[in-house]
Amino acid sequence: MADCIFCKIVAGEISAQVVYEDDQFLAFEDINGQAPTHTLVIPKRHIDRLTDLQEEDASLVGKWLLVGNQVARQTGIAASGYRLVVNCNADGGQTVFHIHLHVLGGRAMRWPPG
Ligand code: 5GP
Ligand code: ZN
Repeated sequence: MADCIFCKIVAGEISAQVVYEDDQFLAFEDINGQAPTHTLVIPKRHIDRLTDLQEEDASLVGKWLLVGNQVARQTGIAASGYRLVVNCNADGGQTVFHIHLHVLGGRAMRWPPG
């Protein structure tokens, strides 16, 4: 997707601090971390938003969550605890329209979220 910032990161056109990569997913540090550890996990295939996922994406979505767990282990926040977040559309607070899983940790999270 030409104008997508995360597709440009996948293509290596914009640099990012990569923490995990496989054939389907890329995980990199958020540029504006909201916690001591804040990683984004994206599918390499461009998908605008959570509501665009289809039945045939079920396997991808399952793996996406498992990569989130893997990233939590790799970044050392698995035992202390972490939060996985996906924002969708305006009220969900989505600002980048290439789906991404936020993996946040390294401090106690508050509830309810803002
Ligand atoms: P959203 O608000 O869509 O759920 O989250 C988008 C996230 O992408 C934000 O946390 C923002 O800081 C992060 N972000 C936006 N542009 C870039 C970028 O160019 N590089 C990286 N690493 N993160 C970005
Ligand atoms: Zn994209």
